[in-house]
Amino acid sequence: MFDLPGIVAEQRLDVYTTLKAGGRAEYFYSARTRSEMANSAILAQENGVVQTILGWGSNVLPSDNGVVGLVTLNQAAEIECDQSGFVEVDSGAGFQDLFLKCAQAGLGGFEFAVGIPGTVGGALVSNAGAYRNNVSAFLIEIEVVENGIREWRTPEFMKFEYRDSVLRQIDAPQIVLLAVRFQLESRKRKDIYDDARDYQRQRIGKQPPSASCGSFFKNVVDHDLAQRIEGLSDGMRAAGVIPAGF
Ligand SMILES: Cc1cc2nc3c(=O)[nH]c(=O)nc-3n(C[C@H](O)[C@H](O)[C@H](O)COP(=O)(O)OP(=O)(O)OC[C@H]3O[C@@H](n4cnc5c(N)ncnc54)[C@H](O)[C@@H]3O)c2cc1C
Repeated sequence: MFDLPGIVAEQRLDVYTTLKAGGRAEYFYSARTRSEMANSAILAQENGVVQTILGWGSNVLPSDNGVVGLVTLNQAAEIECDQSGFVEVDSGAGFQDLFLKCAQAGLGGFEFAVGIPGTVGGALVSNAGAYRNNVSAFLIEIEVVENGIREWRTPEFMKFEYRDSVLRQIDAPQIVLLAVRFQLESRKRKDIYDDARDYQRQRIGKQPPSASCGSFFKNVVDHDLAQRIEGLSDGMRAAGVIPAGF
């Protein structure tokens, strides 16, 4: 393994997942800043070491046999936003912290993020969302490391779909997401908090408080089928979304 101060061998990963389960990382590194994230990614890619990024561990189950290579815990969490609606955030920032910071600045868009545990990086990988919203809707640019090169890119390379992106595929490229730029719209703070509270109330009724990794099933997106299914709400029918429970 290459020389990276702070790197440790055989680190338990169960403590870093919301399921509280899973094996050990062969090598483990905790990155506290965007530069540390970038540095670990460049080193891993230049040395041909398989690297797995861990955010809040709310959508992963590490193998009991362990995870080979380097697991990097992403704790880089700076968030900056201005009155024009421009937001730049480290990929390790909490998705809900991003909502709060934007709401305080009177910027709407991420109301649906309330109650979705995880980092902004993790949210991008699965194009996280709720109530028919997706994190990818507000993206302008993503800073990445690929092939040892650090650069800003437009979002097309992520091939976003419903709760999916290129980084969830079996043969996903080794790309580390470092930071994200979003463009949001100004909105009355009261309206932002009212919507967020409403979403939170709906979630409290459905979400178990114990160890979990969220939904195991994706809703079905099929416009034709949605017209034929009885009992679907008008909103769901119009969006062509059938909840997995149906
Ligand atoms: C109680 C509960 C409720 C949930 N509700 C929702 C919901 O309503 N909607 C929804 O969409 N999801 C939901 N989820 C799933 C989960 O919260 C999201 O997928 C979340 O965005 C994952 O973020 P994370 O930081 O925990 O990612 P992790 O679980 O740490 O990682 C997920 C994947 O992304 C990769 N990854 C993470 N960060 C990076 C990075 N910077 N660069 C490259 N790859 C990276 C990891 O290697 C891993 O493959 C829920 C989960 C729980 C436990």
